[in-house]
Amino acid sequence: MTEPTAPPVIRAPRGPQRTAKGWIQEAAKRMLMNNLDPEVAENPAELIVYGGRGKAARNWAAFHRIVETLDRLENDETLLIQSGKPVAVLRTHEWAPRVLLANSNLVPNWATWEEFDRLDAAGLMMYGQMTAGSWIYIGTQGILQGTYETFAGAANKHFGGSLKGTVTVTAGLGGMGGAQPLAVKLAGGVSINIEIDPHRIGRRLETRYLDEVAQGLEDAIGRAERYKAEGVARSIGLLGNAAELLPRLVEIGYTPDLVTDQTSAHDPMWGYIPVLKPDEDADTLRSEQPALYRERAYAAMAAHVRAILELQRRGAVAFDYGNNLRHRAREAGVEDAFDYPGFVPAFIRDSFCEGRGPFRWVALSGDPGDIRATDRALLELFPEDTRLQAWLTYAADQITFQGLPARICWLGYKERDQAALLFNEMVADGRLKAPVVIGRDHLDAGSVASPYRETEAMADGSDAVSDWPLLNFGVGIASGAAWMSFHHGGGVGLGFSQHSGLVAVADGTPDAALRLSRCLTNDPGMGVIRHADAGYERALGVARERGLDLPSLGV
Ligand code: NAD
Repeated sequence: MTEPTAPPVIRAPRGPQRTAKGWIQEAAKRMLMNNLDPEVAENPAELIVYGGRGKAARNWAAFHRIVETLDRLENDETLLIQSGKPVAVLRTHEWAPRVLLANSNLVPNWATWEEFDRLDAAGLMMYGQMTAGSWIYIGTQGILQGTYETFAGAANKHFGGSLKGTVTVTAGLGGMGGAQPLAVKLAGGVSINIEIDPHRIGRRLETRYLDEVAQGLEDAIGRAERYKAEGVARSIGLLGNAAELLPRLVEIGYTPDLVTDQTSAHDPMWGYIPVLKPDEDADTLRSEQPALYRERAYAAMAAHVRAILELQRRGAVAFDYGNNLRHRAREAGVEDAFDYPGFVPAFIRDSFCEGRGPFRWVALSGDPGDIRATDRALLELFPEDTRLQAWLTYAADQITFQGLPARICWLGYKERDQAALLFNEMVADGRLKAPVVIGRDHLDAGSVASPYRETEAMADGSDAVSDWPLLNFGVGIASGAAWMSFHHGGGVGLGFSQHSGLVAVADGTPDAALRLSRCLTNDPGMGVIRHADAGYERALGVARERGLDLPSLGV
């Protein structure tokens, strides 16, 4: 039998008619397909959705089998996915998830890229990143709100509430990193965005995430300083390698106000591009001399971080943006690589204490009008949340949808359930034309253990305890999620994180309302519980005010 190849173009079915036996199965199928829609995925031919080589299915044979199986799956059955391959259908019960996914998990002592690569080459594993392998990636918008929260957090902490009159230098315009220019702009600032791949720059220009491209470093600085002086918010792309251009900034004595990075440094072999000579090509070097490639990638990351540290010493606000660049540099000999903080302890942890994190939803109708209706409904539901009001108003006006129309906003404990139930009512009474999928990133308040990112510098030192995401996975299943996933290595790479993903479906039925109210209460509740247990006063306060039952804390 010949191995099936990539279909020409994958696009999820739209509308209120389904071919699967229930809306959850239909939703899972559409979301898998949507993850691979060329408007959504970074490299659909290779099944790569985002984040280096984060994939939606192990190979095309597995993709086709998943789609076929979801179409025949009964409403009391559960499909098991092992690293992107459908391995079994079990009789469970109606309230059980229709799909359970485990992606990229390895026993801790074997949890390295080397072992993963061996298994991947043998066809036994797939890297699921966070929302790629769990079928709830919605394109660059998915991270835009979170990136905006981060830069707005930096603005509050260091620049009096706005990035107006500041210049940020960053790198990486990929699936996630591509949100940076627009997020900085939304927070009022100017940004220079270094990217090695001209196609990525082109893609961000097309989708209006990036405003313009400079012709070289000096030109970029000139433009940035002009906009800064005028107080204009604007984003500038710059073609080149961050490991060359950041040291060059140091050499010429230019210090931006903020410096960070979102190249795929979590994956030294496939994600981060070393400094290349004009006659060299990254793919050839990687395939012909992998050891040399790795060595040069590490050397480049060391140079990159040394430059960030020097810019910090000269007054720039530096923060790590969740790609494990500091650790790679430390492995390459930069002892003080962790002298600048990660973005979570720096700007996000307070939100996590309230169970606030990236809530997202997708209109299975395919009709942008459905998302506009949900935007209006949420503006009415949370009139007092000024950050939410500003974001949703902006997003409704400016965001170009990729694939199925979708929206994201940050909501907390005892908020997400309200939003989900409202959407379910809107499906039931016909205000929405078809069911809505509700999910979140694995980068959330209570769903991840990642000591260099979400759980960096926890108050009680519990950074590496991964009982929490496992409990979160179990809680989602026990609460009636549509599909649940447990992954390893998302964001920061193999060996550095474990995390769980939850998706629910609002199909307008009373059953869905019950499932939604439990899932969307308990899941963000895990964020409050995790942070209360670690001793954060804010989380303890939220637990008391919003009625959590925490026997070991007297709450
Ligand atoms: P991606 O692989 O789609 O994009 C990475 C980009 O970096 C590519 O466009 C690549 O060409 C560019 N690049 C690589 N090396 C470079 C170099 N030396 N100089 C300039 N450009 C270079 O990845 P993504 O989805 O954008 O994610 C980026 C990183 O952020 C990953 O490590 C990911 O795990 C991490 N991440 C962070 C968050 C967060 O919230 N902070 C969330 C998810 C992922």
